[in-house]
Amino acid sequence: NAPLADVDPEIAQAIADELGRQRGTLEMIASENFVPRAVLEAQGSVLTNKYAEGYPGRRYYGGCEFVDVAENLAIERAKKLFGADHANVQPHAGAQANVAVMTAFLKPGDKLMGLSLAHGGHLTHGMKLNHSGKFYEVAAYEVDPETGVIDMEKVREQALAEKPDMIVAGWSAYPRQLDFAAFREIADEVGAILWVDMAHFAGLVAAGLHPNPVPFADVVTTTVHKTLAGPRSGMILTKEEHAKKINSAVFPGQQGGPLMHAIAAKAVAFKIAGTEEFAERQRRTVQGAQLLAERLVAADVAEAGVSVLTGGTDVHLVLVDLRNSELDGKQAEDLLHEIGITVNRNAVPNDPRPPMTTSGLRIGTPALASRGFGDTEFREVAEIIAEALKGGADLEALKARVAKLAGDFPLYEGLEEW
Ligand code: PLP
Repeated sequence: NAPLADVDPEIAQAIADELGRQRGTLEMIASENFVPRAVLEAQGSVLTNKYAEGYPGRRYYGGCEFVDVAENLAIERAKKLFGADHANVQPHAGAQANVAVMTAFLKPGDKLMGLSLAHGGHLTHGMKLNHSGKFYEVAAYEVDPETGVIDMEKVREQALAEKPDMIVAGWSAYPRQLDFAAFREIADEVGAILWVDMAHFAGLVAAGLHPNPVPFADVVTTTVHKTLAGPRSGMILTKEEHAKKINSAVFPGQQGGPLMHAIAAKAVAFKIAGTEEFAERQRRTVQGAQLLAERLVAADVAEAGVSVLTGGTDVHLVLVDLRNSELDGKQAEDLLHEIGITVNRNAVPNDPRPPMTTSGLRIGTPALASRGFGDTEFREVAEIIAEALKGGADLEALKARVAKLAGDFPLYEGLEEW
């Protein structure tokens, strides 16, 4: 029972260093968040020891009476939070949830229609090197080249021409809300299954700040660790009629033993996501992204060739367009890293630069909102980013401003003693 620091000082040091990095910098990767202490505790619990193949009440192992309690709570809370008939909380990650959905509803060679990766889709929505692109025929739709927005009339025309078996509505880099009713109509018109992947915006849905896809879709997948602020993992919501098919696609179709510690942590995250405190945090998240977008469309920033895709945002992220800037995506990411702000470079639609360089940045606000940032702090962050991207700024001064913000909002206080 020796502590980690004695058993494995190298790993203990890596964890301590990562905690220091999270505390000392501003985390603005749109898919990341800081989980509450209660989630960390559940995730780091003895539930990691338990094998529980099967589902609550129908396990292939003995001794599952307490993990059943945890999984049932996760299922019931997820159903309530999103108004779903059925929840499968076992997927180890978002990608696993997505593979389960595809294998449940499609045969190899069937046609899948999702948003192109280069236009903000996720690689599990039909990218050629992914399971989705290898086992299924893919007809990707794109954003409108002028507006950067998905044009539902064009999606409809493409769906009528392509006759997909399944349509995916969802994204990893898109700053606007999707029209689920229009996707439903199109799916019905062509006889396709409608799958919504709400991984990015699930927290906003839980808070009532984004339309809920559950009433429209045949099946909804999500990760739990982005805006939802739960453990790194996935989940599937579906109508009762598809429940059996989805369950058997997850287990035994694809996974073995569920990660019961992660499932308990999901239950905790879903409980928290039903609170007013969580909704208030999501409001600060969206408001922060909108303040950032407003600052980055101002004239002084535009002069440096920097703009914002679609001119703003309705969600938790901003997509910065650097096609006319001297900085490429990689240089801009490195520059912000140098002053203590972590973001990721991101291709813009029809990006002239290669994928390892790109001409864009994806900047998200969920982690800073979890840290307690409100309008005042997000305005200061927006100003720092604007000054950095304009060029010619005193980087040491910007770094000091970042450090001050980080210092003013302590993270995981006392974690070393928990
Ligand atoms: N779906 C979407 C829309 C995503 O953005 C992501 C992750 O970025 C995933 C699925 C995959 O999640 P994971 O990384 O947990 O496999």
